[in-house]
Amino acid sequence: MNQFSTDVINLGRTPERFDGLVNTPVFRGSTIVVNSFSEWEEFKRNGGVYRHYGRFGAATAKSFESAISALEGGAGSIVFPSGLSACTHALMACVEANSHVLIADNIYGPTRNFADNILVRMGVSVEYFDSTNLEALTEKINDRTTAVFIESPGSMTFELSDVAAISTISHQYGAKVLVDNSWATPLLFQPLKHGADISIQSVTKYIGGHSDILMGVATANAETYQQLTKTGHLFGETTSLLFLSRNVLP
Ligand SMILES: *Cc1c(COP(=O)(O)O)cnc(C)c1O
Repeated sequence: MNQFSTDVINLGRTPERFDGLVNTPVFRGSTIVVNSFSEWEEFKRNGGVYRHYGRFGAATAKSFESAISALEGGAGSIVFPSGLSACTHALMACVEANSHVLIADNIYGPTRNFADNILVRMGVSVEYFDSTNLEALTEKINDRTTAVFIESPGSMTFELSDVAAISTISHQYGAKVLVDNSWATPLLFQPLKHGADISIQSVTKYIGGHSDILMGVATANAETYQQLTKTGHLFGETTSLLFLSRNVLP
């Protein structure tokens, strides 16, 4: 067994914090109370603004996010209530009115529907390209392009894209590169290590694995992490099961 295989089993687990329990327990909750105003101030100082309310997640989510982030080789991850939600909010983190986005023509269908129905309505121009053809990218990318969203292997057709080359070209235009990594998962491919800025997984699929949960996760590099998480929090994106009392926060 190599180190990666060992990491897959152990990452995000801290039994010493839970009386030796192997898995981080699931806690449910919303409001976090404190005993005094000074404790509240201290709490916010230590944990940052996102620790005082369940919507921002807490240690159960953080355990999961830290495991995924380590596997993806990112600066940090954020969970979403579905894989699609992770795709759409990662895109929202990378656009503004009048932006141009390029999306691989083999992208997961509902992501395409989001782009065609929501992004377009907000004044973002959406164009599709064959992500296996770098010339198609260089022909279409321009100074207004803020995001290039690819999926490799692509949904259904399984074409592979040159993520490193696409990232190099996109970054010359200041565009962020988003990769839906649901099919490969970081076990087989780590987009951020090849220059992508955000890697997304539908947790519903391989991570969940038993058709009994819906969840998504997006992982970003250091330059993009704040942009991604801020957007997620502004939209109120969260997962209700992944909450843990402040008493056991790391
Ligand atoms: C299923 C899937 C999604 C969406 O995940 P949900 O959790 O069902 O919303 C996104 N991308 C790919 C490649 C998928 O297969």
